[in-house]
Amino acid sequence: MDKKIIENIKSIISSNKKIILIPHSSPDADALGSCLALFHFFKNDHSVSIISPNKYTDILNFLPGSENITVYESEKEKSDDLFDNAEIIFTLDFNSLGRAKNVSHRISKSSANVIMIDHHENPDDYADFMISNPKMSSTSEMIYDFISILNSDKIDYDIATCLYAGIVADTGSFRFPSTTSKTLLVGSKLVDHGVDVTYIFEKLHNNFQFNRLKLLGTTINNFKRVDDLPVLYTLLSDEDQKSSNFKKGDSEGFVNFGLSVEGIICSVLFIEKKEDELIKISFRSKGDFKVNIFATRYFNGGGHIHAAGGISKLSLIDTEKKFICDIKQYLKEYYD
Ligand code: 5GP
Ligand code: MN
Repeated sequence: MDKKIIENIKSIISSNKKIILIPHSSPDADALGSCLALFHFFKNDHSVSIISPNKYTDILNFLPGSENITVYESEKEKSDDLFDNAEIIFTLDFNSLGRAKNVSHRISKSSANVIMIDHHENPDDYADFMISNPKMSSTSEMIYDFISILNSDKIDYDIATCLYAGIVADTGSFRFPSTTSKTLLVGSKLVDHGVDVTYIFEKLHNNFQFNRLKLLGTTINNFKRVDDLPVLYTLLSDEDQKSSNFKKGDSEGFVNFGLSVEGIICSVLFIEKKEDELIKISFRSKGDFKVNIFATRYFNGGGHIHAAGGISKLSLIDTEKKFICDIKQYLKEYYD
């Protein structure tokens, strides 16, 4: 990490400050793990709050300190009050203000110092201090480094659990190509701090309702192949979700199943979000097939090389048609 930036950050947090930590909207384990780790790190010396733009999956409520998270969408008055008084804002696990959805205007209008810590490619230039490194497995790994530089003595069980959960979630349990020897070393150090590896796996992956298993069945059944191309996609209509009592986070990880098929290099999941009048799309890929470029170019999204997301304002059927055209076009370029 850039020593000068760290020195500057150190100097602005040298005395008691009002700090807000913000994850991206619909935060995942990496975003919330990063926020909560910093929350525990700062809580005895500063007034620190976490404001999530919207609701997140109940699955993440096992993260120590999650009861301290304020949800902007449902606690607007309290959140606005915190923003009015904020002196320092950390934006964690996102690279453009748009990913903070309804709180992005509060960040851009704030007089607070904004500090970005993130691992997505091509970050926007909105922060006063930017710690960005797309080579990192996760923002949680970056927070480990950040905390280690500031005061490693403070790393305790709670901080270690939050960071470990974030790292395992973003690396698919240390198996995605973003996993380096240093990522594993950080994992090892966190285990030394008391992390219960099995407990975290159980909480993240074996803690769902029966309905969710049935929905996985529907998702797998709905998979289609684009001609004889190495691409699989699947769709979850509003009806599919209603019949399985869909809850936020239930479809997490479903898209990966497409990549379990021999020869497939790209898998896509389309989820109809009736109340938002859009289709949310998840892209996953292998090797040198870059889904973030595809998501940016065709579906107003972005993300990492092998894991990206986007949206479509068309109907589910029209989105499917558009996708088939777009992916064929993109694959032509890929093979050229
Ligand atoms: P997921 O498929 O799990 O929702 O998202 C995978 C990754 O894609 C996320 O970690 C995030 O980096 C990125 N991503 C997801 N949705 C969007 C989006 O709407 N816009 C952008 N720019 N990135 C997204
Ligand atoms: Mn992340």
